[in-house]
Formats: sequence, C-alpha cells, structure tokens
Amino acid sequence: ACLDRIDALNGRVNAFLYVDREGALAVAADVDARRAAGEELHRLAGVPIALKDNMVTRGIPTTCASKILGGWRPPYDATVVETLKAARLPIVGKTNMDEFAMGSSTEHSAFGPTGNPWDLTRIPGGSGGGSAAAVSAFMVPLALGSDTGGSIRQPGAVTGTVGVKPTYGAVSRYGLVAMASSLDQIGPVARTVADAAALQELIGGWDLRDSTSLREPVPALLDATRAVHGAGTVEGLRVGVVRELSGEGYQPEVLAAFRATVERLRGAGAEIVEVSCPSFDYALAAYYLIMPAEASSNLARFDGMRYGIRVEPSEGTVTAERVMAATREAGFGDEVKRRIILGTHVLSAGYYDAYYGSAQKVRTLIQRDFDRVFADVDVLVSPTAPTTAFKFGDKISDPMAMYLNDIATIPANLAGVPAMSVPNAVADDGLPVGFQVIAPARRDEKMYEVAQLVA
Ligand code: GLN
Repeated sequence: ACLDRIDALNGRVNAFLYVDREGALAVAADVDARRAAGEELHRLAGVPIALKDNMVTRGIPTTCASKILGGWRPPYDATVVETLKAARLPIVGKTNMDEFAMGSSTEHSAFGPTGNPWDLTRIPGGSGGGSAAAVSAFMVPLALGSDTGGSIRQPGAVTGTVGVKPTYGAVSRYGLVAMASSLDQIGPVARTVADAAALQELIGGWDLRDSTSLREPVPALLDATRAVHGAGTVEGLRVGVVRELSGEGYQPEVLAAFRATVERLRGAGAEIVEVSCPSFDYALAAYYLIMPAEASSNLARFDGMRYGIRVEPSEGTVTAERVMAATREAGFGDEVKRRIILGTHVLSAGYYDAYYGSAQKVRTLIQRDFDRVFADVDVLVSPTAPTTAFKFGDKISDPMAMYLNDIATIPANLAGVPAMSVPNAVADDGLPVGFQVIAPARRDEKMYEVAQLVA
C-alpha cells in the first residue's frame, strides 16, 4: 500500500529521491513468513520506514541531495540502518532534503524541492522536508530525520507530523553524513507521539562506533506516552513558557494556537510558569557561526577523490588541487558554498576569538539558562516554528529570512537537550502549527509524556 501511494503521489510531492521496491517487498514477505511460522518479532517488524538521504545505506545511493555524491553507493550501513534491518522494518527509500541538511525548506536540494502535502505550492520545511512530507502524505507511517538546528522539528510543525530531536548522544550518529557533529542528532518522524516513542526506543542506545553516544540504557519512552492515558499524570507538572520564544517574530495564528494549547495544559491541572532565558536571543547568531565552522571542516572530505563525482579542470594542467576545486565548484550548490566560506572565515587565525570563540561562550550561556530554568520546571514549551508553511520562493533569495525559521529550535541543539514538535492545531490559514516540548538532557521520557498530553 505504501509503495502504491508513493507511485501515485511522488511525481507531485517529490518526497523520495530513491525507492527500493524490491528490497522493501522482500523484507515484508520475510516478516509475513516468520509471523506465520510463529516467530516472535519486534513490535515494529514489517512497518515500512523511509530514511533521510544523509544516512548511509549499503548498496543504495546516498546523495545528501547533492550533485557531488552522484553515483556513490556506500559500502556500509549506518548504525540506525543496521538496527532497522535487524528489527525487520522494510526500508522503502531515501527522502529529499536541503543539500547536506542546510536549509529550512528543501529548496536547496539539487533534485528539486519537496511539496507540502497540505498545499503543494508551499514548502514542507527543511532540511528534512522529504521525510516529513512522506509521513504527512501517508506514503510511510515512519521516517528518520536528522536535526542540527531544527531539521526534524520544523518540517514536523509545517506538515502536521510529529518530529523528535532526542538528547544529544541518545541515538548513534555513525553513518550519518556529518554536517555539524556537535549538534547533529538522528530522530523519529511519525504520525503519533507513541509511534515516535516506539521508534526512538528501537534506534536509541550506546554505540561503540560513535564516541559521543551515551552509555546508558534507553528510557521507557512508549510507557511514558501510555502513562498519560491514566488520570492524575498532570498533577504537579510544572511547564515553563519561554518568554524569548513566544513573542516577537511569530505569526499571530501561530501564537494564538500556542496560547490555546498552554491554556489546555493549565486546564488539565499543569502549573504554567513564565520563564526567561535571555541568552536565547543570541542563539541564532551563535548557531550560524558554530554550524558553518564545523560543516566547513566536515565537508572537506568531498574532494573528488574519495566519493561521488570527479571533475577535471576544463583547461590547463591536472593537479590534485585543481581537480578538488573543479569538483567542488561543480558539485556543491550555493548555500553549501556560502556556509563553507563563512565557516572557513570564522575559523581563520585572527578571527577565531571574535567569531568562533564568542559563539562558543554564548553556547555555554545558553546551557546555563537551560540549567537554571530546569531547576524549577519539568519541561519548556514554545511554538516550534515562527510561521506556518510559506510559499516556494518566498525566502530562497534571502538567507537571513530563511535562517530566522530556526529561532525556536536552535537553543535545544546548542545545549544538547531533547525537543520535539507535536501537531497543535490548524491555523486560520488552513495550515498546521507545531507545539514544541523541550526537556532536560536524558529526560526524553518526560518530553514524550507532555507531548502525549497535548497531542
Ligand atoms: N535550518 C537549519 C540550517 O539550515 C537547520 C538544519 C538542520 O537541522 N539540519 O542550518
């Protein structure tokens, strides 16, 4: 059914860059046979899933939506892919994204943008717009995304799906093509909070091959979503509304939906506390220094020798350096080049203290703001994105306007805390709005519990 739905819709939605029909059907048939034989399988066995195209899949193209990786078929699987295969989830394909996960609309994909299933003239968010659109359009019930500054949550908000960025280190990043390693995190895209919880429980856990992965047991996330079906779970719950994330710069419909949900929580018995995190005002600026700095270093590996395309200079001698330059010139899109140049600049001697060094200090202040408020509240809440889905072309020529989409999602990445977006309401313009729940590090179960309350 999923494959038929993809066949029917993908021409218009462009959520998938690659569909592995035979591979997915083989896993599904194997699951049927094992179930028929009475074998006990994982609860998600047989549930089709899609992967953002920056997770490496053995023998299956992995492009990061960039021309530079043209023709590359990875020789190994990411840890999350190994885990999904072991639990026998059919992997139906790879989803569209902004090139190398840089963007908030999928318009930076080298293979054309993805349409928002709610209105195909609008963006599905980014960078993981393909995964969000695939779930939103019922092409698959589950997908994985990666979130460096909001790329799972903001697409979730504008497509009416659930998007989760787990605690940094909760899910292995081995085999995720790195963008900004200290911020990147793989997480679930789903239709319900419980589905997302079941998926994170499966993919979470320590991995020897990721030095930043947390060495602790995966919390009982699915149980956390079930607990709230009973009475009394709201009692004593303290919910912080972050002043800096719910005022200026947000579309009125988005704020109205957010406030209505906060009132619903209050009505259910939660205590609502207004909190202030003054350094969040500098989070966007710090992120757009740290992220390009790390990306400029991570993307140095695309040199025309190791992966994907190789372009020789059109004239003159062929030297390694000139092949690298010609390959990167032809292979990378404008946004990727912009960030590499910006990142290299902020890391250069003489500018390091002024830019990268200051940004790291701001990062520490943001972590302290979180520590301070989490001493007083269980979770923080905010709108996920400042606006509903905007039209194609609206922000593509203005990088600053595009970057401003991330104001509410970036603080969680800078501090490593878990955050998720749940569909909250449909705004007056007929488009979905997302509600963000942020929890302290390694308290993902608390985040799921509160998300289930508002879902
Ligand atoms: N929109 C943000 C950016 O362009 C987020 C990217 C991400 O989370 N991968 O950097």
